[in-house]
Amino acid sequence: MEYRIAVVPGDGIGPEVVAQTLKVLDKVGEVYGHSFKYEKVLAGGCAIDATGGCLPQETIDVCKASDAVLLGAVGGWKWDTLPGNERPEMALLGLRKELGLFANLRPAMLFEELADACPLKPEIIAGGLDIVVVRELTGGIYFGEKGTKDTAMGAAAYDVEQYSEGEVRRIAEVAFDMAMKRGKKVTSVDKANVLESSRLWRRVVAEVGDRFPEVELNNMYVDNAAMQLVRNPKQFDVIVTSNIFGDILSDEASMITGSIGMLPSASLATGNFGMYEPVHGSAPDIAGKDMANPMATILSAAMMLRYTFGLGKEADAVESAVKKVLADGYRTHDIAAEGEEAIGTEKAGDLIAANIG
Ligand code: NAD
Repeated sequence: MEYRIAVVPGDGIGPEVVAQTLKVLDKVGEVYGHSFKYEKVLAGGCAIDATGGCLPQETIDVCKASDAVLLGAVGGWKWDTLPGNERPEMALLGLRKELGLFANLRPAMLFEELADACPLKPEIIAGGLDIVVVRELTGGIYFGEKGTKDTAMGAAAYDVEQYSEGEVRRIAEVAFDMAMKRGKKVTSVDKANVLESSRLWRRVVAEVGDRFPEVELNNMYVDNAAMQLVRNPKQFDVIVTSNIFGDILSDEASMITGSIGMLPSASLATGNFGMYEPVHGSAPDIAGKDMANPMATILSAAMMLRYTFGLGKEADAVESAVKKVLADGYRTHDIAAEGEEAIGTEKAGDLIAANIG
C-alpha cells in the first residue's frame, strides 16, 4: 500500500525529531512492504520567514490532499516579539480549523523503564499505566461567544461554554471506538452538578454509550477526576471530556509519565484523517545541538499507523522498538539520570529504526 503523508517539520527541534521519525517510518515500510510518500511543507516561523505568513495556502492544500499529517513543532525566540495573531503558533489553530480536527488524543503511557521519572509513589503505578485522554478540540468555551461589559462592580468579561448534541456525539463516538480497541472503559468527565452544558454532554455521551454495550461508562466530575488521576490513575482507560477540561487533565495525565520528550499526540477529523505531533514545543534552547528526544514524534507516528492507516501490527512494532531501546539502557538527555551518559537525537533514531522487525 502507498500512504501519502504531509510533513510539516516546523521550527527549532521540529526538523530534527521529524527526520528521525521518517527514518523509522522508512524502516517500517521496508520491513512490512508499505510505501510512505512524504511531501514537506512549511508552517510556523520558517513559513513567516519564507512567505510572510505562518500558514501558507500551499501547506493547507498539501495537508488536505494527504492521508495524514506529521508535524514537528512551531515557534521560537526569533518570532516572540510579533503580535499574538501573527505568531508561528497560529499555524496550529489554522491547521486544526482547516483540517476539521475535532478530537485530540493524548495517551499517557508509563514505560516501566522510566518509572523513576514518575512523580507518583511506586505502589500507585505498579504494573504500569496506559490512559488516553480524548479532548474535544474545536468547541466549548475557547470558541464560544466572548466579550466585555460594564457592571455595577466595574468592567466585566465573559466567555461562553456551549456544546451542541452533534459536537458531543462525534467526540463520544471517538472515545467509545477507542475503548473497544483497548480496555473497554470510558470515563466521561464533566461538571454536570453545576453546568447546563455538562448535563447535555452527559446525556448525549450516555446515548452513544448505549450503542457500545461492551464498554463500561462512568461519569465523573472534573474536580474529582483531577484528584483521581494522581490518587488512583490505574482506574482509567479512556477519558473523554470537553475542550477546557481536557486541556488541563491531559497535561496532568502526561506529567505522570515523566518527560515531555516521550509524549505523543493525535488530532483526528472524520474519516480517520489525522494530524500527529509531539506534545512538546520547538525547544529553542536545545535546537541544532543533537540533544532532542525524538521518541515523542516517533510514538506519534505509531499512532498514525494505528489510527489513520489501520496498521496495528506496525504501530506495535514501533512502540516495541522504543521500549527495547529504553530497556537496553539508552537515554536521551531529557530522560538520563544525573551523571548517566546520554545519546543524541540521531543515534536514538538509528537505534529505534534498527529495532523494527
Ligand atoms: P518546549 O516544549 O519547547 O520546551 C520546554 C522544555 O522542555 C525545554 O527546556 C526544552 O528543551 C525541553 N524539551 C522539549 N521537547 C524536548 C525533547 N523532545 N527532548 C528534550 N527536551 C525537550 O516549550 P516552551 O519552551 O514553552 O516553548 C518553546 C517554543 O515552542 C515556543 O515558541 C512555544 O510557543 C512553542 N510551542 C509549540 C508547540 C507546538 O508546536 N505544538 C507546543 C508548545 C510550545
